[in-house]
Amino acid sequence: MTNQSEMITDLVQKVVEQLAAKEKSSISQGDHPSADGMYDSVDVAVACAATAQKQLLKLSLKQREKIIASIRKACLENNEELAAFAIEDTGYGRYEDKVRENILCAEKTPGTEDLLPTAMTGDSGLALVEPAPVGVIGALTPITNPTGTLINNTISMVAAGNTVVFNPHPSAKATSAKMVALLHKAIVDAGGPPATITAIAEPTLDRAKEIINHPGINMLVATGGKPVVKAVLSSGKKAIGAGAGNPPALVDETANIRQAAECIVNGASINNNIFCICEKEVIVVEEVADSLIKFMVETGKAYLLNEAEEKKMTALVVTPDGKANPACIGKNVQKILAEIGVTVGEEYRLAIFRAPKDHPLVWKEQMMPVIPIVSVKDIDEAIDFAVEVEQGNRHTAIMHSTNVEHLSRFARAVQTTIFVKNGPCYAGIGLGGEGHTSFTIAGPTGEGLTSARSFTRARRCVLVEGFRII
Ligand code: NAD
Repeated sequence: MTNQSEMITDLVQKVVEQLAAKEKSSISQGDHPSADGMYDSVDVAVACAATAQKQLLKLSLKQREKIIASIRKACLENNEELAAFAIEDTGYGRYEDKVRENILCAEKTPGTEDLLPTAMTGDSGLALVEPAPVGVIGALTPITNPTGTLINNTISMVAAGNTVVFNPHPSAKATSAKMVALLHKAIVDAGGPPATITAIAEPTLDRAKEIINHPGINMLVATGGKPVVKAVLSSGKKAIGAGAGNPPALVDETANIRQAAECIVNGASINNNIFCICEKEVIVVEEVADSLIKFMVETGKAYLLNEAEEKKMTALVVTPDGKANPACIGKNVQKILAEIGVTVGEEYRLAIFRAPKDHPLVWKEQMMPVIPIVSVKDIDEAIDFAVEVEQGNRHTAIMHSTNVEHLSRFARAVQTTIFVKNGPCYAGIGLGGEGHTSFTIAGPTGEGLTSARSFTRARRCVLVEGFRII
């Protein structure tokens, strides 16, 4: 009996010593941040980000805003190089659209002005509720927009007083490392603490899981497909999930058809359709289907596939197990068309085809400039079908119509986070549309287009029987 209790005491003692040693080593690890924000170890990145967060909290809001201004400036000054590098590294998107993506994120991601306090006064005095930092955020970022997402997340999360550990997509690790080094330097140059942002140099799924489960991470943010959103939402931590979409573009008989055609061609082809908000299928009321297709072709940017070409195209872009062919994702339409023996000029951006309702590209998030067009009998069928193909993602929908009742009916039925009327999809993220931008659009968890305030926690400060002047 004595032996047993001695063994237990011994064991407890050892565990306590190990924990103390781990804490001590993580404290000292946190005192030695890397020069460029990149880390081999999740433990060290989290420790450094935790130390940085304490330092960041000591800075004034004005100093925080100076850091944000420095980030914006660095991104704009290095934009062309970043855009070219991202395309080379990931093989996704178009140079001129990446340039637009970076400008949009640098200029239209809100800073500290987004942190609005609320106050309540009454006979008992004053209660002030302020959006306070959550601490260290673990952010998992996608392959599709590695520059835009890192710029946007960094500005939003740091403006809110947090520090960040990024686990970028493994296939975008070179772009992400370049981006993090640039953002890190901009922060430090403006007087911010080193390790305000950190990233894992060799990101993997295991590293992502380590971040998700790390006790030093206070909040998780996943921008990606359904599995990663599920992973962060199952973590037991506060989490924001920005997941996949399959945005339908609906065109009814009252629409300005030429304008609708132009908007859809521009929206569906931006960055070769890799944005999650891009039009992924068109649903058009029968009586205007021919005009819509004619006007799309007349833009000079859309190639209409004939029946035989459509068959070859479908065999190419959908794999035998029903997935979007990774070799075609985010590629220029010239490259995709060449695979089925069609040659088009440099001015082309999109391939379109008439499709039945059950065509796989109607249901799949293809993320390539190849778009099915389904015609339906009337507005009722159009709305029902568009809601079905959106599949409850609550992401994005687009509609072209001049009938307010139709517009309202579809908006209510589809329940998406972004609903664009009579414009290209990207108007919904502030490109040629009103409002701020976000590259982390949180449909599943409901924050919508995230900004600094999304990465805060509400703290109440009460002054009893004081500071009431009415
Ligand atoms: P992805 O889900 O494959 O990867 C995103 C990130 O999550 C990567 O860092 C990846 O390493 C990590 N990850 C993936 N599965 C994981 C798991 N099970 N556990 C832990 N981590 C995991 O997505 P992607 O291919 O890089 O990006 C494309 C997808 O992202 C599309 O579905 C697109 O719609 C979506 N997306 C959504 C938004 C939005 O704001 N809602 C923005 C951009 C992209």
